[in-house]
Amino acid sequence: MTTTDGNLYIDINTANVPDERGYFGEFGGRFVPETLVPALNELEAAYLGAMADPEFQAELANLQSTYVGRETPLTHAKRLSEMLGGAQIYLKREDLAHTGAHKINNALGQALLAKRMGKQRVIAETGAGQHGVASATAAALLGLDCHVYMGSTDIKRQQPNVFRMRLLGSEVIAVESGSKTLKDAINEAIRDWVTNVRDTFYLLGSALGPHPYPRMVRDFQSIIGHEARRQIVAQAGRLPDVCIACVGGGSNAIGLFHAFRDDEQIDLIGVEAGGRGIIGGEHAARFADLDVSRPGVLQGTRSYVMQTSDGNIMNTHSISAGLDYASVGPEHAYLRQMERAHYTYATDSETLSAFQTLSQTEGIIPALESAHAIAEVIKRAPTMPPDSIILVNLSGRGDKDLDTVMEVLNP
Ligand SMILES: *Cc1c(COP(=O)(O)O)cnc(C)c1O
Repeated sequence: MTTTDGNLYIDINTANVPDERGYFGEFGGRFVPETLVPALNELEAAYLGAMADPEFQAELANLQSTYVGRETPLTHAKRLSEMLGGAQIYLKREDLAHTGAHKINNALGQALLAKRMGKQRVIAETGAGQHGVASATAAALLGLDCHVYMGSTDIKRQQPNVFRMRLLGSEVIAVESGSKTLKDAINEAIRDWVTNVRDTFYLLGSALGPHPYPRMVRDFQSIIGHEARRQIVAQAGRLPDVCIACVGGGSNAIGLFHAFRDDEQIDLIGVEAGGRGIIGGEHAARFADLDVSRPGVLQGTRSYVMQTSDGNIMNTHSISAGLDYASVGPEHAYLRQMERAHYTYATDSETLSAFQTLSQTEGIIPALESAHAIAEVIKRAPTMPPDSIILVNLSGRGDKDLDTVMEVLNP
């Protein structure tokens, strides 16, 4: 879809979509209580209608431009490229989007869809608070009532984001069940949705959950790759050799990869959280540690899930809260199985080192999530010739992580 200023917004290409039951190969689908099926059907129909409506597309494109600040720049990281002595590195600057990360692309798209569907009440769940802040921001902009479920342990750990959400006019609801973290917050949000499904829109934060969320979130994030594709051709005269992005739930990575997936010569590399290393489950590398990770169902979708031998969900660890999740978006599981994309990981210590390297060579302090992608760039670029190109998604800025990094570097 071409918008007024000539920008492609939501991708309406009907290739590369899940089947009518929401499956990408054997992954994805819709594993929800019976009461939610009509709501998901309604959502899917409304989404397809919105995508086909030039007015909806234009309204979203206008907000992305005048509110979020799109398009975000593509920066040639000259000093980092020189220091590594190999590939030319280009950074897609989602850190410069309003609220400091890519999450606003999806939150705004879904909030606009909620409004179109006449749903005044929006619920979301959040772990570290980043998706909660993006949802609260979009809700404030569009005048929606926003309620964010958050584990009470996370509320204690993430006070600045809790305050941000309240300042933005959202209600933050403390979840006291289970481990009082993200997965418990998701369970509560689903319970709320079941109860209030008629007037409530569930604003889901990554390329996860039951169909149609993985596809819808991907489409809202695909602006990242579409912009980057135009920008790299304009700046470097050709397409990249490799695209790299970090993978939590997988939304920023799939948003970058989508525009390049039909160019088979381009390597697509996702970087998971290697935590303290691939032993003892102290990581969130769902594709690296197949001793503890295997296909299963979590929160409405079938994908790789880190689980014990009797099927209990494992607690994961990462220095970056945004990558610290036991499952991963189903389309990534599919791209991996098809060998169209490849997945690797960066440990906490490699990530901390990359965090400092990018700060010092380019004057850009990355989010710890994004620093995982930079860690992979640091390993890979020196092995590539100087006329080759790596395109890396800088999913967010690092201001939110300064306390974490300070604690480790200056204990
Ligand atoms: C939430 C977050 C991520 C991880 O989420 P994805 O859905 O995998 O993109 C990555 N980077 C930043 C900055 C985030 O806030």
